[in-house]
Amino acid sequence: LLMAYEPAKRLSRIRIQAENLMTRVQLMFDILDQPDTMLEAPDAVELQPGPGEVRLDHVRFGYRDGRPVIPDLTLTFEPGKTTALVGPSGSGKSTVFNLVMRLYDPDAGAVLIDGQDLRRVTFASLRRRISFVGQDTFLFSTTIMENIRCARPEATDDEVIAAARAAHAHDFIMALPDGYQTQVGERGNFLSGGQRQRISIARTILRDAEILLLDEATSALDASSEAAIRDTLQEITQGRTTIVIAHRLSTILQADRIVVLNDGQIVEYGTAAELLERGGLFRQLYDQQFGGMILPDSGAGDDL
Ligand code: ADP
Ligand code: MG
Repeated sequence: LLMAYEPAKRLSRIRIQAENLMTRVQLMFDILDQPDTMLEAPDAVELQPGPGEVRLDHVRFGYRDGRPVIPDLTLTFEPGKTTALVGPSGSGKSTVFNLVMRLYDPDAGAVLIDGQDLRRVTFASLRRRISFVGQDTFLFSTTIMENIRCARPEATDDEVIAAARAAHAHDFIMALPDGYQTQVGERGNFLSGGQRQRISIARTILRDAEILLLDEATSALDASSEAAIRDTLQEITQGRTTIVIAHRLSTILQADRIVVLNDGQIVEYGTAAELLERGGLFRQLYDQQFGGMILPDSGAGDDL
């Protein structure tokens, strides 16, 4: 009996250590870019569930010692809708993401989720509500399985695999020498850019947060994986509050609303058809980036 008990005890101890490790891994994954100046309020409360409305209310913000990147921004991202952020490089698109993820606090005004000021909620409860898919996917030097699971450490193998399937990652994973047990190498350098991005999307699906921040990659993907990823992202944005820093015409056209930023200010707001009609900055950016491309008939308005 004792002999049977000992290994079981040892196993459960190993399991506990593994869980601690995953928690730490998740923390690292979550706070990767967290400036060390950010503190959780001592009386921070859990972010209460809600439909997922994200609101910037008279936000003023500048990076350390800098000019204000955002002078005074008021903007509501509607629950369940997709908003495309468009604007020239340096206009503040990534800064809006940084504020919504609370990597920084505004100098004035507030960022709110479902009416709750981010400065008053716990980091953990905030991160459960938000998923971020960026241009770089951070991978740990471990297996594919654990690299996906870190988005939700308590997930079972089957749940990880289901998420990978939904992210169109399952087939490439199964083609690797050790399948899900394949080591991805130091920072994932055995995988291509498209494969890493699909891992990132699998994490997002596994995490199942209602607010989705997508920083759309401009390169890194070949045409066929780009099309597959676009379809997948399109699926997972359904019913989620999605803010996408959009570079691709297809994304811009599929968004419910477009916000055009310049110098941290909203210069235009509306649907693609409305903004093209207006002939302002969006029209200009559109002509520069997509010159000569024909828009679908704007009579199909509801789909834009
Ligand atoms: P976009 O994503 O639209 O290209 P960003 O939000 O990244 O624009 O940048 C807005 C402005 O803030 C730019 O002038 C940029 O140089 C500056 N900036 C961005 N990130 C930082 C940072 N971490 N520290 C200092 N300045 C920054
Ligand atoms: Mg950016």
